[in-house]
Amino acid sequence: MQSVDWDAIVTALAGVEVITDATQVAKLSQDYHTFSPVLVPLLSGKTGDLVARPATEEQVIQVAKTCVKYKVPLTVRGAGTGNYGQCVPLHGGVILDTTRLNAIRWVKPGLACVQAGVKLAALDKQAREIGWEMRMAPSTYRTATIGGFIGGGSGGIGSITYGQLRDRGNLHALRVITMEDEPRVIELRGDDVHKVNHAWGVNGIITELEIPLGPAYPWAELIVAFNDFMAAAKFGQALGDADGLIKKLICICASPIPSYFAAFKNQIPEDRPCALLMIAESCLEPLQGLISQYGGSICYQKSAQEASKGTSLAEFTWNHTTLHARNVDPSLTYLQTLFPNDKDLKLVEHMYHHFRDEVMMHLEFIRVNGAAIPAALQLVRYTTEERLNEIMRYHEDQGAFIANPHTYIIEDGGRKHMDPQQVQFKEMVDPYGLMNPGKMKTLVKSKAQ
Ligand code: FAD
Repeated sequence: MQSVDWDAIVTALAGVEVITDATQVAKLSQDYHTFSPVLVPLLSGKTGDLVARPATEEQVIQVAKTCVKYKVPLTVRGAGTGNYGQCVPLHGGVILDTTRLNAIRWVKPGLACVQAGVKLAALDKQAREIGWEMRMAPSTYRTATIGGFIGGGSGGIGSITYGQLRDRGNLHALRVITMEDEPRVIELRGDDVHKVNHAWGVNGIITELEIPLGPAYPWAELIVAFNDFMAAAKFGQALGDADGLIKKLICICASPIPSYFAAFKNQIPEDRPCALLMIAESCLEPLQGLISQYGGSICYQKSAQEASKGTSLAEFTWNHTTLHARNVDPSLTYLQTLFPNDKDLKLVEHMYHHFRDEVMMHLEFIRVNGAAIPAALQLVRYTTEERLNEIMRYHEDQGAFIANPHTYIIEDGGRKHMDPQQVQFKEMVDPYGLMNPGKMKTLVKSKAQ
């Protein structure tokens, strides 16, 4: 970057909360890429120059306009819980922290309108007051923002019923601020929302969203222990396919993963694979039949009322499984895999036996095009980057889809290539290429080139 007059920038940001303290700025430049031993050295020491915390859309426009005027990079940040260095600024500049944009505009049956910095748990709480809830949430729902979930997430607890964020109907509308000389507010509705969905903040600053809701159930939380991993996995598939059983979460952990859950040390029998479940309370009785069919036994159960106090089981699933395991053994890392639609789970079984303890199986069932399919965030005993790549290649060669979590380049992760619609939109809304530069490798026409 050419020399930048930061004093002039701070003056131009008058009225907006600005943080210039180097320690604070460095802290607000981080995310959870630390789960990846490959990303840590690549992103070490990358920080912004200052953090701006706009409290209104007008202030967001003021920040955007200032960055364009002085040609400094702008990286949008929600809660910074992303896993791929998504909001780590590679080339310094301004970090736009959205957490003060935290108004819930309205909640009505089936739909809510919120500002981007609203925490997922806050929306869920308010929606539940009228009998609705978020359709899906990452296991970081207590801290993550809705803008960050749309900008960087994919799905989570609830995805067994509603699919993923990219599925039509899971995001209704967005308001986006452009990075043009005169920033504009653009409203995207219907299929146009995908111009910005999961774009890692490279093509517009989301300020407001309309998010669909699902009916809220009292969710019971259960852990079911099994005698062998494939019985647990096949139980997960059968529950995913059971149309009459209302569920929010089907997480299957091979042994020794449950031993990393200190909170359940006294409940989960040693060396046993288990299923972590969220099931509508009204479905507990018919669920028992399915559990018996696969030889499982319930070793932990909380009613919805009991589960509403303290830590939810959900915070042991998805990438929280990795977090708990890394608390015990920080050398562990993980994969992100989507297995093919096969009710016999042959490829899951093959990988389970092929890699044994080196790649510990952790499945999360999700709905993909109407079918329940195991996604996986397997835990890996990391040795070298070469071996990690070899493991991922082996999965791909055998027909599994890998969304590589060890890269900070969008296209090299789950995407593989940028949606041409998004590239075109980026050319329009970010003509100087200032938004989160370095994260997208597809070349775009830029006035700066
Ligand atoms: P940030 O990390 O702050 O941002 C994510 C990306 O979105 C960045 O590229 C940022 O620039 C962009 N962005 C943020 N706000 C905006 C905005 N207003 N406009 C434009 N772009 C924006 N993810 C899942 O999908 N499912 C999971 O179950 C899940 N579990 C996790 C568990 C753990 C323990 C951890 C550490 C992470 C997990 N994640 C998961 C990843 C992450 O927590 C979620 O995707 C979360 O929703 C990100 O929200 P955030 O506010 O922290 O976003």
